[in-house]
Amino acid sequence: MSITASTKYVSTRGGDQDRSFTDVLMSGMAPDGGLYIPDVWPSVDHGLMSRLHGLSYPDLAMQIIKPFIGNDIPNDVLLRILEETYSGDNFTHTAMAPLTQVGPNAWIMELFHGPTLSFKDYALQLLGRLFDYVLEQKGERITIVGATSGDTGSAAIEACRNCKNIDIFILHPQGRTSEVQRRQMTTVEAPNVFNVAINGTFDDCQNIVKAMFADEKLRKDIKLSAVNSINWARIMAQMVYYFSAALSLGAPDRPVSFTVPTGNFGNVFAGWSARRMGLPIHKLGIATNRNDILTRFFESGEMKMEGVMPSLSPSMDIQISSNFERYLCELLGCNHKALGGYMGEFKASQSFKLDAEKMAKANSEFVAKRCSDLETMDMIKTCYGETGILIDPHTAVAMHGAMDIMAQDPTVPMVVLACAHPAKFPQAIKQAIGKEPPEDPRLAAIMSKAEHYTPIANDVAKVVSFVKNSPNI
Ligand SMILES: *Cc1c(COP(=O)(O)O)cnc(C)c1O
Repeated sequence: MSITASTKYVSTRGGDQDRSFTDVLMSGMAPDGGLYIPDVWPSVDHGLMSRLHGLSYPDLAMQIIKPFIGNDIPNDVLLRILEETYSGDNFTHTAMAPLTQVGPNAWIMELFHGPTLSFKDYALQLLGRLFDYVLEQKGERITIVGATSGDTGSAAIEACRNCKNIDIFILHPQGRTSEVQRRQMTTVEAPNVFNVAINGTFDDCQNIVKAMFADEKLRKDIKLSAVNSINWARIMAQMVYYFSAALSLGAPDRPVSFTVPTGNFGNVFAGWSARRMGLPIHKLGIATNRNDILTRFFESGEMKMEGVMPSLSPSMDIQISSNFERYLCELLGCNHKALGGYMGEFKASQSFKLDAEKMAKANSEFVAKRCSDLETMDMIKTCYGETGILIDPHTAVAMHGAMDIMAQDPTVPMVVLACAHPAKFPQAIKQAIGKEPPEDPRLAAIMSKAEHYTPIANDVAKVVSFVKNSPNI
């Protein structure tokens, strides 16, 4: 089988092109401030797609991912990396992304079987291994520094803990993450993982990281790098489970709809990308919580920044959706100049507006829904009452939107992406159904393990000195 290959990438802003997969993997963001997208999309026609039925998850991943990597990584190496990533040692369900039926024509896709019990593992577990392979080839070693308010820190640490060529430092605000979130990071036993508890807020942590990246000499000296949410390879890895679910439910002969709980627009853009390759996705639902910049945009045509409010689904509490730039570029027919204009306007005035023609196209590709905290709790309770299945608050936001979409199209199968395990959000579950979810054995195990972290004052120089004096640097 051969999906037509595209191995080159361009920046959404047009200032960088002809980049290989490896360049894009290692740099994350383009030097002109844009995000990388493929210059040509590989396509899977009906015949090819029919032959994807029945493949194991790593074999399916190989078929989908290979055309995006081209010759940068030899086939046998890539397959070994995929088999290692999507193995029973790493994910606790052998199907990797199993579907559970929750209604006559509705399923949830469980994306919480990875080491940190969130869907981010599906991309980051692969990213860590790809990084390590490329660094090994180049004979280089890098230092990753990041700040976290909770979930991304643990997913990044789990992704890097076994990497020979990476040291990772994650800053968290001392006493301001949940105990489970902290322990998911601090109980990791690995000589290249360093947790730092900053005596300050999440913003303080982020400012320290920003200051370190702004220091060019330091950046060079310690080969500073980031695990950011806009790395193309994350989108690429996430496409695979859309194929896996749709193939199980009848693709390519039958279309399937998806609803995705959305923050940075990464996961739902992976769904759009799968459709762009030829997967017959009928409706693609964007589900937001009260932080509804995307839903307001699809309703009004105006992308307008507002403050962030806390919600029961904290991983979606965002002010802007960084990955939206990738879709906007495609919507504008890759007119990089026009894209740059909109992004400039957004930076200057926190808003931009699209004309009716573009909005008609956007609204033909996505359906956007919002969900309040009250509706989130109602959804958790209803789902539990009717099916006995517990869903986490992010999944509930998506299921709420999916119900609306299904009312219009009851005959098309709907897949709701379950992006986190309910045991990660015991308080929200308790508020909704009056009792906490059953303990997950993996989370229970970390509650008794020793923690490793270093408390440091809210002071860039002290953090820099800690990093420079660490054993591997
Ligand atoms: C990160 C995250 C999201 C948001 O995903 P995006 O790709 O940023 O849209 C939704 N739910 C959970 C549980 C998450 O961890």
